[in-house]
Amino acid sequence: MSTSDHAAGRDQGTGRTHAVLRSTADLPAPWAAICGASVDVVQGRWDGPRGLGAADPCPDCRRLAED
Ligand SMILES: [Zn+2]
Repeated sequence: MSTSDHAAGRDQGTGRTHAVLRSTADLPAPWAAICGASVDVVQGRWDGPRGLGAADPCPDCRRLAED
C-alpha cells in the first residue's frame, strides 16, 4: 500500500491530520482514519500539503500508510 492510496482527513478539534482510505473517502461523513480516529473533513491527498505536509500529521497514520 502506498501513501497515494490515502486521502487526508482532519480532526477539527485537535487540528491533527489523519490518513483516510481512498475507498472510504468518497462515502458520506463521518470518516474513520486508518488509525481509528474520527475525522471531520477530507481534504485532498495524504501525501500532499494538507496531509503529511500539514503542521501536525498523525504519527500512527504516517506509519500505517507506509506499510
Ligand atoms: Zn491517525
